[in-house]
Amino acid sequence: MRSNPANRSGLALNVGFLLNEGVGHSSLFTVDEPAPDLDAELQLSQLAGSVQLTRTPQGLYVAGRLQAAHTAECVRCLAPVPVTLEADIAELYSLAADADSEFTISDSAQLDLAPLVRELLVLDKPAHPLCRADCKGLCPQCGINLNEETCSCTAETLDPRLAPLSRLKTKHD
Ligand SMILES: [Zn+2]
Ligand SMILES: [Zn+2]
Repeated sequence: MRSNPANRSGLALNVGFLLNEGVGHSSLFTVDEPAPDLDAELQLSQLAGSVQLTRTPQGLYVAGRLQAAHTAECVRCLAPVPVTLEADIAELYSLAADADSEFTISDSAQLDLAPLVRELLVLDKPAHPLCRADCKGLCPQCGINLNEETCSCTAETLDPRLAPLSRLKTKHD
């Protein structure tokens, strides 16, 4: 195993030695970043895993999986929800900027995984994170967390307010 050289995001790999190898040669890079700085919108506390880089005629084929620790927010009660985001990587980084590949290796032989990993992690974010499957959420009227307390809002106000509305609706229909 070869550890990647130090750099700001921890995801810009120096691949010069690999580019000098013949097609089919590969090398494993490990990633272990305690505080990855990928995106201000995506707070991560850990990013770890490994990727295999294989020399191809076009450049380098990157395959592997990285896992990131992320804190989401419960959509019902706003409590923090720890989730693990995964980036399943299978991408060709080409040498020539005009190639079909979306990702290229820089002239200084750096392969920056950050844009791809950011994209994959964002896609893996849960759309509706819940602190628990049966989260009761916040009371829409008084705002208390119904997982921790109970209030009398629902019983007192919902029926009388909604009843006239539903009668109106029936008349118009
Ligand atoms: Zn919740
Ligand atoms: Zn309430």
